[in-house]
Amino acid sequence: MVETKDIFTCTRCGYCCHGETTVSLDAGDQQRMITALGLDPEVVAAKFWRITGNIVQMKVVDGHCIFYDPDKGCTVHAGRPWRCRQWPLHPSILEDESNFSAINDSCPGINKEIGYEEFCRRLRRLLEDRKEVGC
Ligand code: SF4
Ligand code: SF4
Repeated sequence: MVETKDIFTCTRCGYCCHGETTVSLDAGDQQRMITALGLDPEVVAAKFWRITGNIVQMKVVDGHCIFYDPDKGCTVHAGRPWRCRQWPLHPSILEDESNFSAINDSCPGINKEIGYEEFCRRLRRLLEDRKEVGC
């Protein structure tokens, strides 16, 4: 049986939590985050979200997601968005090697010992076995 650690082990480098934007939160993400934080929706929105039209993202502070702490990592781990849960094992890796290369270059947790074909074989098995894979 293939396990996540066979293709990826997070080094907690924090790269994926940095940048001037964050992933978008869908309705399920928003509710999960509100529940995890145990705060009123209005408080969560005002304190943690950047809302542009109907796009909801997390605020960025000092070049990283507001929930990222250099010592602790993600401080909303149980309530993080599904795109954060999925990263870096994005299914688009299976479609195009250039997608794999881009993710491989930015994430030190990707297993560098195996090539693209073997990585895809293991990722396919993981995705077949489980609905959710990733960080
Ligand atoms: S998922 Fe990759 S880029 Fe993000 S913290 Fe882990 S090792 Fe770093
Ligand atoms: S929610 Fe957590 S995992 Fe996602 S970008 Fe913010 S700190 Fe990183």
